[in-house]
Amino acid sequence: MRRALAVICLLVLTTGVAAAWTPKALVRLSGLSDQEMKAFLGSDFDLAATGPDFVEVVLTHDELAMMKKAGKKVRELIPDLDAYVARRLAEQTPTAAYLTYETMTTRLRELVAAHPAIAVLSSLGQSIEGREIWAVKVSDHPERDEKEPACLLAGAHHAREWTTFEVPMAVLQTLLEGYGKDERLTRLVNEREIWIVPMVNPDGVTWSQTQAKYWRKNRRPVGSSFGVDLNRNYGYQWGPTGSSDYPYSDTYHGTGPFTEPEIVALKGLAEREQFQVSLCYHSYSELVLYPFAYAYNAPNPDELIFKTVGREMAAFNKYKVQNCTELYPCMGVSDDWFYGAGKTIAFTFEMGREFIPPATEIARQCALNVPASLHLIERAGAIAVNTPTGADDLPAHLDLTDALAGLALGQRLLPQLTGTDRERTAARWQLAARRAAELAVAELGRGDPGAWRRLVAEPAARTVLPLARARALFEHCHGRPLPADLLAEVLATR
Ligand SMILES: [Zn+2]
Repeated sequence: MRRALAVICLLVLTTGVAAAWTPKALVRLSGLSDQEMKAFLGSDFDLAATGPDFVEVVLTHDELAMMKKAGKKVRELIPDLDAYVARRLAEQTPTAAYLTYETMTTRLRELVAAHPAIAVLSSLGQSIEGREIWAVKVSDHPERDEKEPACLLAGAHHAREWTTFEVPMAVLQTLLEGYGKDERLTRLVNEREIWIVPMVNPDGVTWSQTQAKYWRKNRRPVGSSFGVDLNRNYGYQWGPTGSSDYPYSDTYHGTGPFTEPEIVALKGLAEREQFQVSLCYHSYSELVLYPFAYAYNAPNPDELIFKTVGREMAAFNKYKVQNCTELYPCMGVSDDWFYGAGKTIAFTFEMGREFIPPATEIARQCALNVPASLHLIERAGAIAVNTPTGADDLPAHLDLTDALAGLALGQRLLPQLTGTDRERTAARWQLAARRAAELAVAELGRGDPGAWRRLVAEPAARTVLPLARARALFEHCHGRPLPADLLAEVLATR
């Protein structure tokens, strides 16, 4: 029910009012009382942005008229959202245009064909209308599961948010074209398993682009209406807050959790890959969001990691970092399921300042958000040290760079943690410390002192130096070749 509308307009709407297709507007309602704000937050309205006493919300023209009649302070940001979509399509040029599902598919095939050693294109399954849901895995030996820290980037849960497939496509291109040329990008490809699903909702995107319609959901036929909100269909804390039981609603969450093939496809991938980190792209509000979204003050044992890594990413895109509920609470969203069910450190970017900026703005959105995304991929190794992955172990391929990054991050986090959170992180920190020591000594045994010097130089690794030294001495005494000059270097380490 439109409870918020009832509160504000002292009217009770029947659910049939908006069943037919009606034009919609994006409006800013300001000067709202606490009671009115409370009625909006957690309601089934399609909220784009919120503040202390305002909301930016999608309304039907009937609802808008009622708000005006009730004397509310209304500013029409986009009076006709269909006309807005049509304008964005019309103003495209050959050099500044959004991808479509078809051109994206072609581009994916071209990129993967040009880099077959580090990229594999596959379909996770088909959408309601039978489109393939494309996923690219980027890694060295991409056909093998190497147990490296796994990362997921997913765009376009929501049809109307066209920059949200452009940015993951740009990340893909950056990784593939930088491989073998840029040291950091090469390492990320070699030491990670990166999954990019640029368009989770191909039917919705195609509908919005070909029909010039403002559209959010997928295209499931539901009675006389269409569509389930894919970012309300996940199965962790699926429920009524911030979502709707009524098919006409833009936040209709389906008849139950995981009813939509697009989301079932992602679920299968996530259960197989056990992602260390995930990032879902949405627009708009210039926010970095982290779970939980389902209720205010839902306890998140890894909140410190979310805040720390969130702020690091925000250094690149200049967004505000906040818990999902500070935007508005909602149930059945991707981040809650990825983190709640899979222990994935799951973020959402709400990019830009409008749903569909002019196509000339795509490059700027990518310039802000590709580096932030790459940072999360890099951080997956350090995060692996500091969060449980389900098994009581670290990813088998964690390299020295990741182990040292994990030790440094843990060193920052540990003093701020208490109780079992601290014990849990400390135990994994010890695991990573041992791993770092082993890796450094093994390199030393092969005659390369570089790793040992990096270990010694990392302040967070000081506590493992005695262990590493003992191991090096043991190996020397038991016949492993450790040249005299390297042994001298070990003994000289303070
Ligand atoms: Zn969205």
